[in-house]
Amino acid sequence: MGAARLRGWKFCLLGGDRRQDYLGCRLARSGAEVWIVRRRPPRFPGLRHSRAKEPALDGARVIVCPMAPFGPDGRVCSEDPEDLLALTESDLDLLARPSVLFAGSFPERLAAAAEKAGCRPVALNDMDEMAILNSVPTAEGALLMALERTTVTLHSSKALVLGYGRTGQTMARTLLALRARVTVIARRPAARARARADGCEALPLEELAGALTDARFVFNTIPALVLTADALERARPDVIIIDLASAPGGTDFEAARRLGLTAVLAPGLPGRVAPETAGGHLAEVVTRIALQSLAPVEVRPS
Ligand code: NAP
Repeated sequence: MGAARLRGWKFCLLGGDRRQDYLGCRLARSGAEVWIVRRRPPRFPGLRHSRAKEPALDGARVIVCPMAPFGPDGRVCSEDPEDLLALTESDLDLLARPSVLFAGSFPERLAAAAEKAGCRPVALNDMDEMAILNSVPTAEGALLMALERTTVTLHSSKALVLGYGRTGQTMARTLLALRARVTVIARRPAARARARADGCEALPLEELAGALTDARFVFNTIPALVLTADALERARPDVIIIDLASAPGGTDFEAARRLGLTAVLAPGLPGRVAPETAGGHLAEVVTRIALQSLAPVEVRPS
């Protein structure tokens, strides 16, 4: 990233997890003025800090909200439960015009209000590039969570991967690299064909319950209830289920608890296990889109 390509640009990073610190660092290294808004101070020097959002939003050209969805009334997700941040429609009036607003996804109303205020909303979760880059720390984090809970190696174990989209593919390939025996469960024949071409076994969703009977590990990426109580009844008692799909996940957790199975919902893994890598990916994407969307800032020599 060029040393001064963001000189004169003001960035406001709202809430989020440790990714924001690394993102901020990378942006500041490119010359940007970076404000971190939350209760706890930034982890690195060179970043401005404010508990109140107004000074940070005032004149900002770029705002970066977390990848996790907004809560009710524009509530911004933060790793610190005491951060009670929200981005409201009236906050948008404080921004420079034009500006760019990044988030994982947007409530429709906020996206429409942003457009109206001359602020381009960019939903990072809709971008294949972002999802594919994020799938790597997600898969590694899922392995970590699984291995912490088991007494066997992934090598030679039977692992199910539910869904064969961006995360499912990386998950399956990572497991194959460890010589696990990988079976992919996917609803589309083309996805199953791709999984077979990649070296996995592949089954349709209707065969999930049968496949569960001898699986030691299950990694779910399908954002719909697929691990139902009926299916879970067929699982081995020592199965480890890591549910990667966004909340509420694809597992009947209540049934899993009743059956004594280990099932964990694992949200936000990139920020938890590899914030430096994930923050670096964010910095690349945010910088490129910001530079494409907004005119350069004229910086007068001091
Ligand atoms: P994706 O590329 O859209 O893949 C989703 C997969 O689920 C596809 O195989 C899709 O099948 C399948 N699917 C969706 N709805 C289904 C349904 N009702 N029945 C059966 N199959 C269904 O999404 P992704 O980027 O891999 O992300 C997957 C999930 O992981 C999302 O919820 C995402 O938010 C979450 N995620 C979590 C983390 C984390 O840290 N835990 C990190 C990244 C992503 P088709 O191709 O047939 O539609």
